[in-house]
Amino acid sequence: MSESNIIISLDHVSKWFGEKRVLDDVSLNIKKGEFVTILGPSGCGKTTTLRIIAGFETPDEGNIFIGGELMNKVQPHKRPVNTVFQRYALFPHLNVFDNIAFGLKLNGVPKDEIEKRVLRVLKMVGMTDYEWRNVDSLSGGQQQRVAIARAIVNRPAVLLLDEPLSALDHKMRKDMQIELKQMHKKLGITFVYVTHDQEEALTLSDTVVVMNEGVVQQIGTPTDIYNEPVNCFVADFIGESNIFNGTMIADRLVSFMGHEFECVDEGFGENVPVDVVVRPEDIYIMPRTDKGQFDGTVSSCIFKGVHYEMIVNTPDGHELMIQDYNAFEVGMEVSMIIKPNDIQVMKKERVCNTLEGEMIDSTHVEILDTSFECLPQEGLNSGDKVLVEVDFDKIDLTDDKRDGACEGDITFILYKADHYHLTVRTESGENVYVDTQDVWEDRDIVGVNIRPEDMRIRLAEAKA
Ligand code: ATP
Repeated sequence: MSESNIIISLDHVSKWFGEKRVLDDVSLNIKKGEFVTILGPSGCGKTTTLRIIAGFETPDEGNIFIGGELMNKVQPHKRPVNTVFQRYALFPHLNVFDNIAFGLKLNGVPKDEIEKRVLRVLKMVGMTDYEWRNVDSLSGGQQQRVAIARAIVNRPAVLLLDEPLSALDHKMRKDMQIELKQMHKKLGITFVYVTHDQEEALTLSDTVVVMNEGVVQQIGTPTDIYNEPVNCFVADFIGESNIFNGTMIADRLVSFMGHEFECVDEGFGENVPVDVVVRPEDIYIMPRTDKGQFDGTVSSCIFKGVHYEMIVNTPDGHELMIQDYNAFEVGMEVSMIIKPNDIQVMKKERVCNTLEGEMIDSTHVEILDTSFECLPQEGLNSGDKVLVEVDFDKIDLTDDKRDGACEGDITFILYKADHYHLTVRTESGENVYVDTQDVWEDRDIVGVNIRPEDMRIRLAEAKA
């Protein structure tokens, strides 16, 4: 990719709001004319990224370039970008024409030029003949078109769109998605689009940037992101997935759910813990036969319009989601096959919690800004910096936060076929990761406990 092809470049951008780091070393290159979508759950930093591009926020670290020029200190109105916000932010006392002409008038564009440009953009957004209408008399979808017309009438090199369709009903949203895509083609300018709706992102974009907790997780085409997610978060966030803990036994051989499966992945090493993802449409289901790789019993079957969605339980306690054009009724004994190509193996991001801490005395260690009792630690002295390892299933959560040594809230729940893998953000700002059979909800506030015998403590290596 040649440098001149890149219109926007975020280079190691970080941003704090108070103590909270909301963008963590974000690097991103956007090509001229591309339709790029920033996708992620609420609060992951999408809007902040867009506002940094627009100039409404400045990075605390790193640089933002537009058209090769450093923009960190350039005012929003001096940047070659225009923003369409979630709420249309039209002037209610002006008609459609004057709403669109507003910026041009301010810039002293001649009257007949203004008229030509306003009429041209109205045509582009399918609103010819609406120029004298009061904006209050328009539907949500029409107001959004006016907002887009107002943004493109200035001929920006880049159009930034922050969840522009979120206030529309489902049908209008779908129609506007098609129109936005056509508009993007016609205009030939770069669109940077923010949404938390994965289907919208896959439909609209040339490139999808998946974010979580201020960190870019994956950048790729919609097909790449869907077919080759780089981690469990992306696999879970984009579409439906069955996610398993597995072991890569050797090249092209992985084990999960207590069975060995041929796969196409190589180079992980031998007997290495991995995450395994299989999409629901990639599990072949058939009435019980000895030709299957494993067996199960259907516990739910729902018609989803085109296909049926079944939940199948295996004898060893795994629960799978399977989609098929045929219905397999509840209670039916079935067998399943998963083909090597349909098994996605991913390196585990971590195999246990590793917490940075400090010895208080021989039986207490400070981790997560909290003093925890530990087994007597010979050879460690108070003040020693240590690393404390705790297995995912050895962290106890309590629903009354006062019963915990410290407090946290559940920020992400991943179902892994026979247990939940939770991300708990503690008050210290650090995450702990928990495997549990208990059912928790996103945003639940919990107490966090760790038993002394479940901590493995070792001296941290001095930082260079
Ligand atoms: P959403 O989809 O809900 O709009 P988002 O992914 O766009 O979320 P941001 O709006 O970028 O997320 O916010 C990221 C984090 O920064 C959130 O925790 C938010 O509460 C916080 N945040 C955003 N703006 C400010 C601000 N001006 N002051 C303090 N915190 C802020």
